[in-house]
Amino acid sequence: MKSFVFATNNPNKLSEIRSMLDGHFKVLSLKDVDIQTEIPETGDTLEANALEKARFIYDRVKLPCFSDDTGLEIDALQGRPGVYSARYAGPNCSPDDNMEKVLGEMQKATQRAARFRTVIALIEDEKETLFEGAVNGAILTEKQGEKGFGYDPIFQPEGETQSFAEMSAEAKNAISHRGRATRKLAEFLLASVS
Ligand code: IMP
Repeated sequence: MKSFVFATNNPNKLSEIRSMLDGHFKVLSLKDVDIQTEIPETGDTLEANALEKARFIYDRVKLPCFSDDTGLEIDALQGRPGVYSARYAGPNCSPDDNMEKVLGEMQKATQRAARFRTVIALIEDEKETLFEGAVNGAILTEKQGEKGFGYDPIFQPEGETQSFAEMSAEAKNAISHRGRATRKLAEFLLASVS
């Protein structure tokens, strides 16, 4: 069975893509290929970062590989935190610090539209392909819910009455940025073996 390296050790991301490719492809984590070095993320777009990470891994393992990068893009903040979502409030900040910073900056905002966007970069036989998934929604005025991670408590997807942090993992994955991008990658890979 053909193997792909996913540039992550995140167990949730791994099990999501593994369940989609089960029986057709094997997905290896960074740990599986013994890469422990920090992967550079110096780009100023999600696309640049996803490609940078995938190229870094590909150059080392010479196996087909993919990586993802996600950001929360808020219209009233000119697209911030965007590519800087993980460390928006500073180098060692917590998700709460990030949400507090966003809520503070949004205090006077009348327009609360935002989207989560994920870009996946795939490298196979030197060929690079990008997949995008996005979900539109709004930034709430306060945190709601305990589930999920990151900015989930302050993001309510369009057409829903709950924040991402109030939804089950299944309900979130069905409409989420990462779920959409991951399904596009899985469809692309599965088409090559059907
Ligand atoms: P990554 O590219 O998946 O590491 O995501 C970068 C940052 O975006 C994370 O550290 C989180 O702050 C945020 N983020 C990514 N995906 C989600 C999500 O599904 N919900 C909430 N925040 C997210």
